[in-house]
Amino acid sequence: MTSAVIAPLGVDSPARGLECRGCGARFPLAAQHACYECFGPLEVWYDADSLAKVTRAQIEAGPQNIWRYAGLLPVGQHAADRVTLNPGLTPLVRADALAAEIGLRAPLWVKDDSANPTHSFKDRVVSVALTAAKALGFTRYACASTGNLANSVAAHAARAGVPSIVFVPHDLESGKIITTAVYGGDLVAIEGSYDDVNRLCSELVETDEFEDTAFVNVNVRPFYAEGSKTLGYEVAEQLGWRIPAQVVIPMASGELLTKIDKAFEELVSSGLAVAPEGGWKVFGAQSLGCNPIATALHAGTDVITPVKPTGIAKSLNIGDPAAGLYALEAVRRTGGWMDYASDDEIRDAIRLLARTTGVFAETAGGVTTAVTAKLVASGKLDPDLETVVFNTGEGLKTLDAVAELVGPTYRVKPSLKAAREAGLLG
Ligand SMILES: *Cc1c(COP(=O)(O)O)cnc(C)c1O
Ligand SMILES: [Zn+2]
Repeated sequence: MTSAVIAPLGVDSPARGLECRGCGARFPLAAQHACYECFGPLEVWYDADSLAKVTRAQIEAGPQNIWRYAGLLPVGQHAADRVTLNPGLTPLVRADALAAEIGLRAPLWVKDDSANPTHSFKDRVVSVALTAAKALGFTRYACASTGNLANSVAAHAARAGVPSIVFVPHDLESGKIITTAVYGGDLVAIEGSYDDVNRLCSELVETDEFEDTAFVNVNVRPFYAEGSKTLGYEVAEQLGWRIPAQVVIPMASGELLTKIDKAFEELVSSGLAVAPEGGWKVFGAQSLGCNPIATALHAGTDVITPVKPTGIAKSLNIGDPAAGLYALEAVRRTGGWMDYASDDEIRDAIRLLARTTGVFAETAGGVTTAVTAKLVASGKLDPDLETVVFNTGEGLKTLDAVAELVGPTYRVKPSLKAAREAGLLG
């Protein structure tokens, strides 16, 4: 699992190395994703004093994108070194009408990450991963993807002028395939599930032929994962440097959820943001067709039994979630909960979110909205605490989910008489 390409990283970086999430062993900042001692997953660790030196004023004076948080990231401290589409600073939308419909009395916000350059939150993780990949000397960019990641890697590679090869399950939505293929890199459709794609990529990365290739979520995964923290930083900054009391986050591998929680912890311990009274609670959302993490939580176990995913929320269809255990840990530690939504509930929730907020989400956003409503109904979400729901992707990429449920409300010949007859004048 070593890469032949290892170089020192980040002169001005607050990161000091990689640390095993299992046994705590530490390694240099390099293209390594599993512990040599126990095979556990690795995470970037930071010098706490360096993080504590970052000020709100520094951040607020920074660029209007994720790089304003470069002082809290492992790479990208210097603009010239970045491989990026400059994602981030997406809208935090106040959602009063949605709150009223689902029974929340405290302020409800939708963090709309469909506003990123390739229309999902994956631009954040890819920018950080590929900036690390460049520093480490990789000359080709790759990933195993459920759709949005492939889209983002292909676009970043095109912008950087670097070849790319992305791997996806063959049965993805056309909106994910077309938006990826258009950038001109290699797109490999694998006749299998995402978990099959991921396993294949873990094997390819070990071959001599792929020695020059950074798989953003395999050999540079620790850096990739850090990019998700910027969603947490942004929400806090947009709320006036406050952490919200409750957050609802979609889960595929579970990584995003753990990193939003990590971001909140960093902001509070470095004095950049204020925690809510009683702390924040983290809630996770999955679909009925792929709910291994939520099922483990409901069963009160740490054993996550892999599933074979089905259903329309394809971007979340990871049956064997790499960060599932850590997502369980964060939800239990903060006093949150998880739930899941059926395909029909997802379709209804996409329309509910659109109708009440003007945000058109992909199926993952439908999952999160549907689960938020369920969590209010079951009493798990406190209706009197401020809540942020994360919409991580764009409805135009999964049009089929609602195509048969919506359409013109009238069809009328172009004359006043026809308009009157159709009832348009009341
Ligand atoms: C990848 C993805 C997620 C979840 O990511 P994990 O970090 O693997 O849990 C959520 N929403 C969308 C739209 C995604 O593409
Ligand atoms: Zn270890």
